[in-house]
Amino acid sequence: INIANQGVKTLSPYQAGKPIEELERELGISNIIKLASNENPFGLPESAKVAISRQLDELTRYPDANGFELKAAIAKKFAIDPNQITLGNGSNDLLELFAHTFASDEDEIIYSQYAFIVYPLVTKAINAVAREIPAKNWGHDLAGFLAAINSKTKLIYIANPNNPTGNFLTHQQIADFLVEVPEHVLVVLDEAYTEFTPQDQRVDAYALLKKHRNLILCRTFSKAYGLAGLRIGYAVSDPSIADLLNRVRQPFNCNSLALAAAVAVLNDDTFVEKVAKNNRTEMQRYEQFCLAQRLEFIPSQGNFITIDFKQPALPIYQALLHEGVIVRPIAGYGMPNHLRISIGLPEENDMFFTALVKVLSKNK
Ligand code: PMP
Repeated sequence: INIANQGVKTLSPYQAGKPIEELERELGISNIIKLASNENPFGLPESAKVAISRQLDELTRYPDANGFELKAAIAKKFAIDPNQITLGNGSNDLLELFAHTFASDEDEIIYSQYAFIVYPLVTKAINAVAREIPAKNWGHDLAGFLAAINSKTKLIYIANPNNPTGNFLTHQQIADFLVEVPEHVLVVLDEAYTEFTPQDQRVDAYALLKKHRNLILCRTFSKAYGLAGLRIGYAVSDPSIADLLNRVRQPFNCNSLALAAAVAVLNDDTFVEKVAKNNRTEMQRYEQFCLAQRLEFIPSQGNFITIDFKQPALPIYQALLHEGVIVRPIAGYGMPNHLRISIGLPEENDMFFTALVKVLSKNK
């Protein structure tokens, strides 16, 4: 039936990887490691396991539709008001909710070339006009963003750091940008990976929120906090914006296990510090490896690194797969020569280094 809007017709399905067990069976190898989805390599934190097991007996009941406890914990940690918070079933849910709540057919949404794939997805799903701004050194060209704003612009998505490139904008760059953005345009600052940036280099988004009522901060528990499978994220904004988001949001969009686990890990600084420290040390090893192998990479502030092979990367991805390492091809982002590798545990990264050297030597 010819029923979809023009935007939906241009979408292609999200390319999810096959389950590891399925791949192992297909390739006839075992112990495949996955460095493909920017997940946390340490497994579920103990604090979350305890919280989840306590919650099991409550599963016949609906979750708390307002996420009271989690909002209170987030509000306390960041010295904000709970009525500034909107909870999401992962931050993807929130990224979609912003478009759904504030934009429609013919409105314009701005994001960068090579920016996180969900921005074009949600824009096209509502048939809004996508203004994709050509990237500068693989990152956001904020001057280009400003030049693209007009009376139809409703939303701007910025991923900082960006996935899949790892590019990072400083506090000053974002602050200067926000001063120039008219108030009728909402700016979404997607900080899914912020915990991997050293504290003194991060954007102080909470200070910016005090100055700019059109700013929406979006964070997730999927990365540094290790709860990707539970699906939980949060947005912080002016209460008037949060009020509108909470009207459109599905009442039970966050499940009770996720809510309980997020409360537990939010203040589990020991776990998050361990994760961030491993990421810093191992990122340096990746950079040294790339330099030694004469491989060009994009410097990354995330928990992943993107390597430019200067040739179609799909055969390299496939050869790595046969060596038991899953990484992420990003041709769908318009980067067919690159692969994105998520930083794993030291032994997983060693496996990747060995596999890649083998694959590239065969490739010569
Ligand atoms: N934003 C960015 C930039 C991401 O890379 C991701 C995860 N791939 C997300 C948001 C969404 O994460 P989640 O839905 O798991 O919170």
